[in-house]
Amino acid sequence: MEQTLSIIKPDAVKKGVIGKIVDRFESNGLRIAAMKKVQLDASKAGDFYAVHKDRPFYGELVEFMTSGPVVILVLEGEDAMAKNRDLMGATNPKEAAKGTIRADFADSIDANAVHGSDSLENAANEIKFFFSKEEVI
Ligand code: ATP
Ligand code: MG
Repeated sequence: MEQTLSIIKPDAVKKGVIGKIVDRFESNGLRIAAMKKVQLDASKAGDFYAVHKDRPFYGELVEFMTSGPVVILVLEGEDAMAKNRDLMGATNPKEAAKGTIRADFADSIDANAVHGSDSLENAANEIKFFFSKEEVI
């Protein structure tokens, strides 16, 4: 069983599609091991996306991720990391395959509805970054 981290980003929370996105996970065999709604501050969002700190869009990314509440989940299941990335679709929603979360709910490359861990190592680190052991069930 694998675990991976998902974030429903501020654009999707504002649109009122938390339930529709969670349904994509559950309908595709991913179990919700943890879930919470939080307002990130610039320090927490900046640390989370520290790998991108030298990219030109870093400032906007942190601003966007703190523009409203997010929902953070731990998803569990067979091939959970890759399965979640498949369900999400490409980073740019214009390039995302039909039927993916980003194709259906995202508007732009920055407001792209969801985050998903992109390796098992990152998944483990990202889960630890947001959740205590007791919160992941
Ligand atoms: P995420 O890490 O959020 O799951 P991803 O792995 O598909 O998305 P990354 O390359 O890790 O994409 O980029 C992280 C986030 O930075 C993207 O989700 C997007 O919101 C933003 N981003 C990436 N590229 C650009 C860009 N060229 N312009 C603006 N924002 C971008
Ligand atoms: Mg990424």
